[in-house]
Amino acid sequence: MNINSAIIQGAKILKDRFVKNPFLDSEILMTKAIQKDRKYILLNSKKVLDKEDLNYFQKLIKKRSIGKPIAYLTNKKFFWDSEFIVSNDTLIPRPDTELVIEKILDLTLYKKKLNVLEIGVGSGCILLSILKERKGFYGTGIDISKSCLNISKLNAIKLKVSSKLKLYKSNVDKFAVGKYDLIVSNPPYIKKRDLKYLDIDVAKFEPKLALDGGLDGLSAIRKVIKKSSELIKKNGKFILEIGFDQKNKVISLLKKEGFYINSINKDLANNDRCIVCTKI
Ligand code: GLN
Repeated sequence: MNINSAIIQGAKILKDRFVKNPFLDSEILMTKAIQKDRKYILLNSKKVLDKEDLNYFQKLIKKRSIGKPIAYLTNKKFFWDSEFIVSNDTLIPRPDTELVIEKILDLTLYKKKLNVLEIGVGSGCILLSILKERKGFYGTGIDISKSCLNISKLNAIKLKVSSKLKLYKSNVDKFAVGKYDLIVSNPPYIKKRDLKYLDIDVAKFEPKLALDGGLDGLSAIRKVIKKSSELIKKNGKFILEIGFDQKNKVISLLKKEGFYINSINKDLANNDRCIVCTKI
């Protein structure tokens, strides 16, 4: 079978299983199966596939057809300005989280040197994007998942920022190293009972550890706010990603811990998504 027919056949299987972008996904999975880029596929669409490559491609299509996200099948996801390695253990970087990067870059436009902490680095997409954009900044990242830290480390090497990065395996409540000019976090913030209503691709395949915010969705946020207020320098900035309906509760938690609210920012879908505040 040639490349083009295999892609069409794959797309049809995905379409029948209600996958949203069947043709594009099929093409991307072909690039993975034969280890070539999209341009090669377009220019060589009539080329006959090796049996092994075809088998591998069909396996990928099968996995995608049961909802496994493309990023987990290709082990990569583009975020902000770079392609990040991801694994089944990391949350897939979201376009909405790019808002957090935008806000941090706005805040630090004229800063030369800052000590930045990220609580819950996951793939490293937030902290490493900042370190790449701001050459003089120094980063510390913590996560409870060792496999996330391993992926963050690989990404730091890929983005050439590993010399300015320290990673720690730690619970948020136990961490007590350093003082920071800026702290950022995109903690798990989905209510436990709502996890099952997420998109099937998310609910079935993305790590619960990265999503589950406990009974009221705020259990990680509470700890992150408390810890940040201890580790942040006076006048330091704290940037937090939140759930669409958590604004009021989170603001009151922040105020209690001595933060002044600078702004609440909306994501691409017009939901409240990112709070910027200052420790006073
Ligand atoms: N900081 C990572 C991200 O935003 C991981 C966040 C998480 O796992 N909750 O993608």
